[in-house]
Amino acid sequence: MSQHRYLLGEDRIPTRWYNIAADLPSPMPPPLGPDGNPVTPDMLTPIFPMELIGQEVSQERWIDIPDPVRDIYALWRPTPLFRAVAWERELDTPCRIFYKYEGVSPAGSHKPNTSVPQAYYNAQAGVKRLATETGAGQWGSSLAFACAQFGLECKVYMVRVSYDGKPYRRVMMETWGSECVASPSSDTNAGRTILERDPASPGSLGIAISEAVEDAATREDTNYSLGSVLNHVCTHQTVVGQEAVEQMKMAGASPDVVIACAGGGSNFAGLTFPFLAEKFAGADIRVVAVEPTACPTLTRGHYAYDFGDVAGMTPLLPMHTLGHSFMPAAIHAGGLRYHGMAPLVSHLVRNELVEAQAYAQRECFAEALRFARAEGIIPGPEPTHAIRAVVAEVERAREEGVEKTILFNLSGHGNFDMAAYQSYLSGEMVDTELPQADLDRAAAELEGLPTPA
Ligand SMILES: *Cc1c(COP(=O)(O)O)cnc(C)c1O
Repeated sequence: MSQHRYLLGEDRIPTRWYNIAADLPSPMPPPLGPDGNPVTPDMLTPIFPMELIGQEVSQERWIDIPDPVRDIYALWRPTPLFRAVAWERELDTPCRIFYKYEGVSPAGSHKPNTSVPQAYYNAQAGVKRLATETGAGQWGSSLAFACAQFGLECKVYMVRVSYDGKPYRRVMMETWGSECVASPSSDTNAGRTILERDPASPGSLGIAISEAVEDAATREDTNYSLGSVLNHVCTHQTVVGQEAVEQMKMAGASPDVVIACAGGGSNFAGLTFPFLAEKFAGADIRVVAVEPTACPTLTRGHYAYDFGDVAGMTPLLPMHTLGHSFMPAAIHAGGLRYHGMAPLVSHLVRNELVEAQAYAQRECFAEALRFARAEGIIPGPEPTHAIRAVVAEVERAREEGVEKTILFNLSGHGNFDMAAYQSYLSGEMVDTELPQADLDRAAAELEGLPTPA
């Protein structure tokens, strides 16, 4: 084996998920229902199976991974950990840079780590069909793959701009047997209401969530599935970090800084939560979440109770938010265009256990190109933000005259995102500054909603 590739065998696929809720230094505020009182599990049964509701509110540190889920994980797990020796040379740095590569899954990202258990628990509960939303198509294709594994039907509401601009992800969903429609669609009340007001609506993740939740809530045979944000999703993703902890030991290294991009927070949670457990136990580790300046939820948003969707059908979640009707600019990192954030990640940022940084897309693609030329792998548009943050760490280490060990999550490949690379290479890509007025509008929208303690 190469001395820069750290590969675990199939027998080292984690047997349990790590639930960080058991170790938080202070408790998280609860999600609230329409009456302003905490959500009770029975309110969620129309759209989620009991097993996932239990995980959502669990305070147990470890949750066993069912064998049928581990069997499917074995198609691509454990994923490789690489030391980026060629990129280190290119950056001319004495720092040691490692990355965990989640692009080896069938869908090309970390998302199947949660789509597989979600499809499994729904199938176990006798559910026949799942409804979900997708932005750029990463989540929709991951759930389509998982539903095919367990014989479930699947309907995906795909944000209109991506449906038109990124046809190949839709074809992947159809290849795995799912139905995919452009959102807003005429199939739901939520979609029809938007279309009446704006027939040419480009859609948003918030609108698509409203459609999928309505679909699931109004059909007996159908549940809803979400690819990020929720506690159980973050927990499922911790297979990434558990493997990385072990692989860093194989490499004889321990990270000073752990970095991941954050859209809804799930790949960030997956890599960093097992390292945060070490930080809680006294390890000296900095943890950094990276987002786009065009959708700066953690760096410029408000910490407040807000809805997860545009129509206000979801419970109120305590999180950093840009307001549930926020329409981000059409940046290429579709997975990072969400107005909210995982309550767990927001809670950690608020308690100063996690730092947040934001970068514009052109500087991210500039560094992604250097990475791709050195390491070979073409990163998805989302993890280009993590790559940009690694370069910032390298520059800071140079100024401070220190050598650091840096670990980041390469959450997916960019092989379906050539339009984004083309836009960068042709010089057409632009950076958009988010006007303060948009943030003020969010603040106004949040007035009247409860405030987290
Ligand atoms: C969806 C996606 C993201 C953003 O979602 P998180 O829940 O924040 O992880 C990041 N990277 C890739 C490759 C994605 O597909």
